[in-house]
Amino acid sequence: MIENIKKYIRNVPDFPKAGINFKDITTALKDKNVFREIIDDMYEKIKNRNIDKIAAIESRGFLFGAPLAYKLGCGLVLIRKQGKLPTKTFSQSYDLEYGSATIEIHQDAIRENENVLVIDDLLATGGTAEAACKLVKKINANVDSIMFLIELDELQGKKRLENFGEVISLIHY
Ligand code: AMP
Repeated sequence: MIENIKKYIRNVPDFPKAGINFKDITTALKDKNVFREIIDDMYEKIKNRNIDKIAAIESRGFLFGAPLAYKLGCGLVLIRKQGKLPTKTFSQSYDLEYGSATIEIHQDAIRENENVLVIDDLLATGGTAEAACKLVKKINANVDSIMFLIELDELQGKKRLENFGEVISLIHY
């Protein structure tokens, strides 16, 4: 039961700063049955979609993107923080509460018109995932769907993503 997984996600109040209720997934991943259940459930939700590549967002998106790509039998590509990827990239900046951040993808990571699933651990305001979708669009590929383990409903991040593709979240708070 996927709702059961909530029991394994640790809430850490005021991390990394006052007012943020941090959802710590390490307590779920360290349990072999729970980790497997998460990946299997993600797989069930996308197995009938036509996905060529999974684009995983650094860093916790990697933890789900890699086993899911293996299970689905599709390619895995990395969306990383600025300056980490070694060859030609596209970049996308987005606003944070204070300042901004930039993420990048290799220009040759995806081919034009390929169908891409974007994945991260958690959807909050949607700024990070929206920037990731824009990177996929810069390559002229399609965002098929955007997947998260956790969606924080009240922040309404989904609204920023719906124009790109279907938003699929396993757990809602
Ligand atoms: P956002 O761009 O606002 O949707 O934030 C999403 C990114 O920030 C994801 O990569 C999350 O890992 C991280 N994040 C945001 N809020 C939280 C939270 N309450 N708990 C854990 N991670 C968070």
